[in-house]
Amino acid sequence: MSVALDVMDEELTGWGLAQAARSKVARPEAVADIADVFAEAARAGQTIALRGAGCSYGDAALNANALVLDCSRLNRILSWDAENGQITVEPGATIAQVWRRTLPDGWWPTVVPGTSAVTVGGAAAMQIHGKNNWHVGAFGESVLAFDLLLPSGQTLTCSRESNSELFAAAICGMGLLGAFTSLTLQARRVHSGNVWEVTSVHNSLDALIAALDEATSWATDLVAWIDTSARGKRLGRGLLKMSRDLAPDEDLHPELTLTEASQTRQRPLMARLPSGRLPRLARPLTSPAGVWFSNRGQWMSGQGVRQRGSHLTSYVGANFPLDAIPDWRESYRHGGLMQHQSMIPAEAASAAFHEILDRSQRAGLTPSFAVLKKHRASDALLSCLVDGYSLALDYPVRRGQEEKVRALLGELNDVTAEAGGRIYFAKDSTLTPAQTQRMYGDELELFHALKRQYDPQGLLTTDLYQRAIAPLFGE
Ligand SMILES: Cc1cc2nc3c(=O)[nH]c(=O)nc-3n(C[C@H](O)[C@H](O)[C@H](O)COP(=O)(O)OP(=O)(O)OC[C@H]3O[C@@H](n4cnc5c(N)ncnc54)[C@H](O)[C@@H]3O)c2cc1C
Repeated sequence: MSVALDVMDEELTGWGLAQAARSKVARPEAVADIADVFAEAARAGQTIALRGAGCSYGDAALNANALVLDCSRLNRILSWDAENGQITVEPGATIAQVWRRTLPDGWWPTVVPGTSAVTVGGAAAMQIHGKNNWHVGAFGESVLAFDLLLPSGQTLTCSRESNSELFAAAICGMGLLGAFTSLTLQARRVHSGNVWEVTSVHNSLDALIAALDEATSWATDLVAWIDTSARGKRLGRGLLKMSRDLAPDEDLHPELTLTEASQTRQRPLMARLPSGRLPRLARPLTSPAGVWFSNRGQWMSGQGVRQRGSHLTSYVGANFPLDAIPDWRESYRHGGLMQHQSMIPAEAASAAFHEILDRSQRAGLTPSFAVLKKHRASDALLSCLVDGYSLALDYPVRRGQEEKVRALLGELNDVTAEAGGRIYFAKDSTLTPAQTQRMYGDELELFHALKRQYDPQGLLTTDLYQRAIAPLFGE
């Protein structure tokens, strides 16, 4: 490729480290370069996968033996309006860059994932959700407009009013229709850099789901941790973490808590450990016995919260707890980890999640980490979101067990489809075309018709698309 860009031959991985692919990787520094890369790849008959920060767990941002266009250097903040909370950024700007700019003026990104490393382009392309999904919707609902560079080289400005069909398809379009070159987001007003946080303990999955529903009257954010060591009647027991924004005037010194420094103060334990050491020290926790002990330990330590009541914590502490542990995914090394996140309609969720947890334990593949959230449906065309709940499970891929993990996740995909649910593409590694068809049916047809219209040569692809979608259309 002769574009005046460095194109490196590299092995890239999904965030879970379990999937990898060799590709030519271009990292443009200017948005204008994307059009050149598109044109040149089209001339050379090559395909392109767009990539943000590479935080999708599986193969959503991989493109084996072809080109990857990494957008992470296209990360300028183009404008910020502190009066109405609207920010316009290039696609590679991260959630961390966004909150750092908006928080001192009393605004927080409306939707954030569990890590602030994610880019705004990657967040929109996967229609990511936060712990407030059930009441504010998903990331795309905070996107006011974006510019989309099409494979033809034309750029279209899309919003709910203009090019609205493309707007609804490119959000959650997994980078398959065009490249976002700028996005405008609506942030939400906050009156402090702190939130109230309270944790409650629940002895069964049904009790946890009931508590999630009940907490919606008080909380702005909700997430439940599940103890995967529990079995039988206790299966799915866990801790519900609820947080709530402070009301105006509740924080007497917002000028102190809304600062970047107040958000990024490291916790004492993390500050004492040399970076890089923690993952190695934590590796035994990913063995079967380690998984049992760490889950049981967390459950036991959770019993103390009954007395503790609510306390204040920073937005960063509440939203991105794992960002405080450098390189924690390295603790899974060997085969890395695979995540499985199923979204199930409310009425079928309890039975499906019982089955998913039970099958995992019976297969001898108890997940190391399990999280339950509450959701609402989204109008982005390929979104997995439903009016219901999701269960996200981390599976260590131990030496020699990759096929066994894949087989289990394949079964869990069927359980999800049977319950009328969907698998979240950002976390997926195992969906087959038939399973994707069962879950996404008519929406897939509509999406593919738009793909044919805007990308007739099939310039944009990913390994995920090739594995789970393209074969349905004879590609
Ligand atoms: C620790 C951790 C916690 C997480 N927590 C959550 C969570 O709470 N909720 C949630 O929903 N997700 C969560 N995720 C998943 C993550 O939010 C998504 O995978 C997200 O899409 C990753 O964004 P990225 O910038 O890394 O993009 P990548 O993973 O690199 O790419 C994601 C998709 O975006 C496309 N893309 C990238 N740039 C562009 C562009 N400029 N134009 C068009 N398409 C583009 C890619 O082709 C790909 O399909 C988590 C991930 C991790 C690692």
